[in-house]
Amino acid sequence: MNKSQQDKYEAYFTGKKVAVVGYGSQGRAHALNLRDSGYNVVVGLRPNGATWKRAEQDGFKPATVAEAVKGADLVAILCPDMAQPAVYKESVEPNLKKDAAVLFAHGFNVHYGQIAAPAGVDVVLVAPKAPGALVRRQFEEGRGVPCLVAVHQDATGNAKTAAYAYAHGLGGTKAGVIETTFAEETETDLFGEQAVLCGGVTELITAGWETLVEAGYQPEVAYFECLHELKLIVDLIYEGGFARMHEFVSETAKYGDLTRGPRIVDARTKEQMKTVLEEIRSGAFAKEWIAEDKANKPHYNQLLQKDLDHPIEKVGKELRSKMAWLQASAKEASAGQAKEDERKLAAAGSKT
Ligand code: NDP
Ligand code: MG
Repeated sequence: MNKSQQDKYEAYFTGKKVAVVGYGSQGRAHALNLRDSGYNVVVGLRPNGATWKRAEQDGFKPATVAEAVKGADLVAILCPDMAQPAVYKESVEPNLKKDAAVLFAHGFNVHYGQIAAPAGVDVVLVAPKAPGALVRRQFEEGRGVPCLVAVHQDATGNAKTAAYAYAHGLGGTKAGVIETTFAEETETDLFGEQAVLCGGVTELITAGWETLVEAGYQPEVAYFECLHELKLIVDLIYEGGFARMHEFVSETAKYGDLTRGPRIVDARTKEQMKTVLEEIRSGAFAKEWIAEDKANKPHYNQLLQKDLDHPIEKVGKELRSKMAWLQASAKEASAGQAKEDERKLAAAGSKT
């Protein structure tokens, strides 16, 4: 990014008001980063909600969503995806300034037709590719996390500038901004979390751990092998791709990787991935999840409980309690994400 672009983004929100609706994982990080970037931020929340106090503790004067939206030039909708349509309909749209911008951090509701803004309003996406706690931490360390930016509706002619200026305030331009569409962001984000990041990886870990334990090996040894060490490997891949990982593991590990890996994740896995992607693209996944949420998540809660009751969780808890540095980083994170998770879990009667 050149200096004149930087100046343009830094000047864009001068004299403008940004409303951040929701103060959870993303909301807190966005509100704090934008405020530290000099933007005028108002946090909009439910008055009796758990995060109202947290916003106050961070020095904000939270307002109701309706009050926060009034007069705002940009409204960032950062409450949970399943809550957004009702919040938008009841409190955002009736109070929107006529040439305001509405911003999302994930395209779900716009892409699947759950939220449609009036014609005079800009609709943009700034999706940081990291959990909220990291969006904040990287910013505090003078860095940023990469952001995806998209424009769904450009009513004023300024939609793209507004989105870039917002990403700039988050620290995103330091790490890189990639232009995308709501469709691409939504579909790839859902696919990534289902097939690889959350769904795929936990199933891979669990299957590996079970295989060792069922064969008679100590659960603790299996835990270190199949879960704990994953971080070390992922860190290397993150820093320098497969090449860097290969540099650091032994020749024997590499030979095993190259010959056995493709037998574990094989053509059938890829076929399943294609099916999962198709469910996302057709809207079948969105429809299923919206219905599950409306029914108070019976299936979701049951599956979540099953995951949490798995013996690997018990072994992990004991082993992690001996690693002091993990306790320290968990504490640090709890200032942000973990507290919110605990609260959500308590509300759902289970844990994430
Ligand atoms: P959270 O679940 O952390 O949001 C919780 C916040 O929303 C709380 O402040 C809560 O307030 C508020 N909230 C909940 N319901 C309502 C309501 N009905 N009215 C007003 N406020 C409400 O959300 P996330 O940060 O996880 O997600 C926000 C958006 O960011 C989503 O679109 C998500 O897809 C996207 N995203 C999330 C990422 C992440 O890391 N989590 C990564 C990238 C994008 P209260 O205290 O009252 O309950
Ligand atoms: Mg799983």
